[in-house]
Amino acid sequence: MIGLETPLKNLPRIGIKYAKKLEKMNVSTLSDFLFHFPFRYDDYSEMVSISEISSKENFTIHGKIISLKNIRTWKRKMYITEAQIEDDSGIIRAIWFNQPYLGESLAIGKEIRISGKISQKKSDPPARANLKNKSDAELYFSNPSWELASRIPTNTGRLVPIYPETQGITSRWIRWQIQNFFKLKLAVPDPIPQPILKKLNLPEINKALKYIHFPENKNQHILARKRFAFEEMFLMQIKSIQIKFSWKKEKSVKIKFEEEFIKKFVSQLPFRLTDAQRKSTFEILKDLEKERPMNRLLNGDVGSGKTIVAAIAALQAIYQGYQVAIMAPTEILAQQHYKKFCEIFKNYDFKIGLVTSNTKKINTSEKNKKIHDSKFVIHNSNIIIGTHSLIQKDIRFSKLALIIIDEQHRFGVAQRAYLQQKIENINDGIRGKIPHFLTMTATPIPRTLALAFFGNLDLSILDEMPKNRKKIITKIIPQTNREKTYNFIREDIAKGHQAFVILPLVEESKVLTEIKAAVQEHERLSKKIFPDLKVGLVHGKLKAEEKEKVMEDFKNNRLNILVATAVVEVGIDIPNATIMIIEDADRFGLSQLHQFRGRIGRGEHQSYCFLFTGKDSTLANKRLKALVESENGFTIAEKDLEIRGPGEFFGTRQSGIPDIAMENLANIKLIQIARTEAENLLKENPSLGSDPLLAKAMEKFNKNIHLE
Ligand code: ADP
Ligand code: MG
Repeated sequence: MIGLETPLKNLPRIGIKYAKKLEKMNVSTLSDFLFHFPFRYDDYSEMVSISEISSKENFTIHGKIISLKNIRTWKRKMYITEAQIEDDSGIIRAIWFNQPYLGESLAIGKEIRISGKISQKKSDPPARANLKNKSDAELYFSNPSWELASRIPTNTGRLVPIYPETQGITSRWIRWQIQNFFKLKLAVPDPIPQPILKKLNLPEINKALKYIHFPENKNQHILARKRFAFEEMFLMQIKSIQIKFSWKKEKSVKIKFEEEFIKKFVSQLPFRLTDAQRKSTFEILKDLEKERPMNRLLNGDVGSGKTIVAAIAALQAIYQGYQVAIMAPTEILAQQHYKKFCEIFKNYDFKIGLVTSNTKKINTSEKNKKIHDSKFVIHNSNIIIGTHSLIQKDIRFSKLALIIIDEQHRFGVAQRAYLQQKIENINDGIRGKIPHFLTMTATPIPRTLALAFFGNLDLSILDEMPKNRKKIITKIIPQTNREKTYNFIREDIAKGHQAFVILPLVEESKVLTEIKAAVQEHERLSKKIFPDLKVGLVHGKLKAEEKEKVMEDFKNNRLNILVATAVVEVGIDIPNATIMIIEDADRFGLSQLHQFRGRIGRGEHQSYCFLFTGKDSTLANKRLKALVESENGFTIAEKDLEIRGPGEFFGTRQSGIPDIAMENLANIKLIQIARTEAENLLKENPSLGSDPLLAKAMEKFNKNIHLE
């Protein structure tokens, strides 16, 4: 019997050959196929008579085939099928290229519907049509959509769905299959409870499926999309609330907030905390006092001072006798954190350990003691800083009570899962409890995305920059001013400052191209433009030690200019760097550019960010203007989301979220409604026990989706 879970390879109309191709689009069961949605529709619903054809818009005609020719051109190795179609008002020609089997389906005398765009051949058309109206002699259909008039309109005469395709799988073929599935009249169970659909005026699932594949009008597919977007968002929110619930069931150690002690520390800092820093610190310290584990996201701009907030939390934990682990996504960042924390706590007698995997190098702040055993360091340090090497299987802590994760979205899914589930068992000194979690973003996350993706986390926001920060002057520079810009850099470097040159992003598959470009630019700058200056180069293919050496040299001003590819972690703190050139800036997202820019302007001197763009720069310049005009990372992130869409925003593509939900990640209203409905439902039915369909949908969702 054929059911929704029937593998497509078992269906006679599909078979192994096509099933394999479909697999490439993650379509393997009948149900998957039904949920393979069109991404747009061609509107062929308008029927016209042949004599009315004059515009080049989309429409459909209905007529009889009066001539048919199959031509094979040997020279150009092409099949051409040519037909003349007649209705009461006239005759028109249709030409199809490279569809060798088409001739077999068509025959003289058959009635046919044809939809598509009209072409106009200016001179010497392949064959002259015998038209009643001479002035239309040159009009013909080129590769139109067609079907025999006896068929239900599927490819013509309606809103025709266009699907994501893959080699050997056309939208036409998909339409045919889906049409056949509908004939089976299988009932797809609806995971959304009826009352919710009713309340929100959304169509039931079987109706929505018909609406989305074969809508009779625009409203139908819009309504269907709304429904499926809501569904994904709803499941996402259920999951996020469930994570929050399960988190609440766990226990952590209570870390008492020693107000006087913390105040004293803060008063000894070389700067005054911003109000946002104070508020966030307070929220965190209050969380740490609770038995329920903290799971908080510190969402803040580059340079907004997240580190010191994290350090205060760490200080409180250490003061109460606990350990703190700090995880960074890369070696360089881990090393930087290590140095920063050593500096911040230089007046305290803390043991700070650095553990990274690549170098197998162990650092420790303990004076005069060379310790090379990472296990020992981890067990005995107050603060352990590292990359994901910190969460490897055999690593054990003694009294780990707080984990701080920097740039959490860059950690892999598996690592996050590991962190949140296993960490309770890696403490020798605390049993049955899990650490508190503080995660930090590298760059601000817009409100909607935070709600959609991180709804399971509590939020602290640093939307205010330290007062001493000088505004970075950002400019879009026309190519004609390149020379001038280089002269400007030369002058600035003469004052002892340093400059970054960031090279464009190339697709991941083309790392070598990217490196070649970087090597070339380095050549050009060091030999031709700045032969008198020291120009360094850092790119993704350098070994960790090499990278470290270059960064070290730059940091210590042994290099005047650093050429870097985008893949290279520039999340480093070099207060003396005052200039950044970004080449082909239009290839980056605004948020990413903003993050790069945050690497300068860290010292007391005026800093400059110069953006060069590619050839077609009018549009790019318009987009980049947001960067010139604003220094607020949240504003820029919102703009970025608006322009590029959520899919591109910090690589949410890998999350497994279906496109239809993706498209709606900027829709705050939808997300809020989904959240409210999910909350209400879970209040009454926390385990979804009385809602087996929804429970099953959640199971499937969990398999496919990786929430933070
Ligand atoms: P990010 O949020 O990007 O991680 P950091 O924590 O690295 O930012 O802080 C950037 C710089 O600003 C550091 O050098 C830090 O010492 C400094 N800083 C942090 N808070 C303040 C403040 N309130 N006033 C002045 N400088 C600050
Ligand atoms: Mg930071």
